[in-house]
Amino acid sequence: MSSTELAELRREALACVSCALSETRTTVVFGAGGTSSGLMVVGEGPGRDEDLSGEPFVGRSGQLLDRLIVEELGLTRRDFYIANVVKCRPPGNRDPLPGEIAACATFLDRQVSLVDPAVVVTLGNVATRVLLGTDDGITKLRGRTHEWNGRLVVPTFHPAYALRGGGAVVAQMRADLVRAKRILERR
Ligand code: URA
Repeated sequence: MSSTELAELRREALACVSCALSETRTTVVFGAGGTSSGLMVVGEGPGRDEDLSGEPFVGRSGQLLDRLIVEELGLTRRDFYIANVVKCRPPGNRDPLPGEIAACATFLDRQVSLVDPAVVVTLGNVATRVLLGTDDGITKLRGRTHEWNGRLVVPTFHPAYALRGGGAVVAQMRADLVRAKRILERR
């Protein structure tokens, strides 16, 4: 991984005005974390807490995600890289629009190339559909390992959904994370 190139890409993203989300954001939430584990996690877009702090997944969803990843994979943010499909908060936490996703795609593509993960865990419908280029829903796509651009993708539920859905959803997320762990163990 080239940290210099990742830092340059971050600088480019922080100045981005390619879509209307740049008019309402507080900060650009580029992405964060280390790359040593070979795991990259991709979410949908910043929420309120992330928009204010500039860091991905720092709110309640992120806290649940961190707990599940440390419990199932033994990894912390120092070990894995985490970013979102769109880097600026959609107002009111609505789903990002197709034009916003397209405007931001270059950043995610280049982040994935630079981080060069062995496995990408996608969180929820938006991230999974964007990476796999499908309209299928997360319930259908999770529970399997997919291939995308020569990389392995393990879709799972978004932690915000798990916060609402309770134990059964969390149990399925844990199973998906174990699937990612097995891939990392085989490398
Ligand atoms: N939800 C996301 O998809 N990404 C974040 O960074 C926070 C919440």
